[in-house]
Amino acid sequence: VVFQAPRGTQDVLPEEAAYWVFVEQTARDWAARYGYGEIRTPTFEETGLFLRGVGGSTDIVEKEMYTFRDKGGGELTLRPEGTASIVRAYIEHGMASRPQPVRLFSFVTCFRYDRPQRGRYREFHQWDCEAIGELDPLIDAELIMLLWRVYQALGLRGLTLQLNSIGDEQCRPAYLERLRAYYQPLLPTVCGDCQRRYQTNPLRLLDCKNPPCQAAIAGAPRLLDHLCAACAEHFAALRAYLADADIPVELNPRLVRGLDYYTKTVFEVWPAEAGAQSALGGGGRYDGLVAELGGRPTPAIGFATGIERVILNLKAQGIAPPALPAPRVYIAYLGEAARRAAVHLADQLRQRGVPTLVAVGGRSMRAQLRQANALGVAWTVVVGEDELARGVVQLKPMAGGEALELAPEAAVERLAAGG
Ligand SMILES: [Zn+2]
Ligand SMILES: [Zn+2]
Repeated sequence: VVFQAPRGTQDVLPEEAAYWVFVEQTARDWAARYGYGEIRTPTFEETGLFLRGVGGSTDIVEKEMYTFRDKGGGELTLRPEGTASIVRAYIEHGMASRPQPVRLFSFVTCFRYDRPQRGRYREFHQWDCEAIGELDPLIDAELIMLLWRVYQALGLRGLTLQLNSIGDEQCRPAYLERLRAYYQPLLPTVCGDCQRRYQTNPLRLLDCKNPPCQAAIAGAPRLLDHLCAACAEHFAALRAYLADADIPVELNPRLVRGLDYYTKTVFEVWPAEAGAQSALGGGGRYDGLVAELGGRPTPAIGFATGIERVILNLKAQGIAPPALPAPRVYIAYLGEAARRAAVHLADQLRQRGVPTLVAVGGRSMRAQLRQANALGVAWTVVVGEDELARGVVQLKPMAGGEALELAPEAAVERLAAGG
């Protein structure tokens, strides 16, 4: 039997890891600048949390969750997204009594039984940020700026911020009536999904990707034109902050999140050429979610960005991450006494912070030097029996040049000082 990684998962090999570290460290660095603290939540939760927190009528809950019963009979689900768990933790740990908003970030592994395609996996990774406990549009602006500055710091170019407001319980119901009235005579022309959405979730009519539905969408009334005073004011303030931040905003009245607890601000970041199917990240305000999950009514906003998606874009734009530390010194030797001295020398070098490898397996000196070359180290230290007898080792610069003879202690000093 030859095992393979399950469909829709991937192995990240060491040469690929530099991209992950680059994205994660940049995100951490900027999260700290905005005062976001790290939270880590379990990989699985009670299934009910996602039924309520993601929404029973979504594709995620209807088709994509990895749900199982454990040996104790618990009904559990591998997390399909990050927000529900973080909100659950906010409520469970009484974080409402901390200074508000509570700013949290998390690197989450998520699971969705989806059709695998480029940049889309069944096990995938997200960077999540949530600001819970404040309605001020300043927080919306900060959160969006944080995401934008991270993309910028990674060197990504040509991105646009797609922005919309989907109103709230004051203005949305009247708009949905208007939208239904508009769609009613068009129902025979739209797809089956849209005919269903007309009944269950009319806001989602606006983000249908099917070609026959595009004409109907183009003529549909815009929620932006029917916001109540509070929502309109919130949106105007947010746009002013984003303009000051020099972020290229495209108003996108088709951008929606189709669940009741999403309110006001929604946004996505799109790469220049590709558009909605390949959004790098996105999020929005969910002022109804904390109450939906059993907490007191609490405004909140968050985003998630897919790490795989970001790395795909880094590669497409030819952006190389900083190299990770690699072995700098290789120790070659001949004979049993020299081997023991080599292991000791390597230990001393590592304690001084020098990444060091020692030859293994009794290879010839020639084979050892060939391996040192293949590993790309800067220095090879040769511990020969003859040198050992004279109390010295040989330092060979791999880039070429004269070898040096030094006492082992002097060799350690020299290599620790950078060679
Ligand atoms: Zn449709
Ligand atoms: Zn409103």
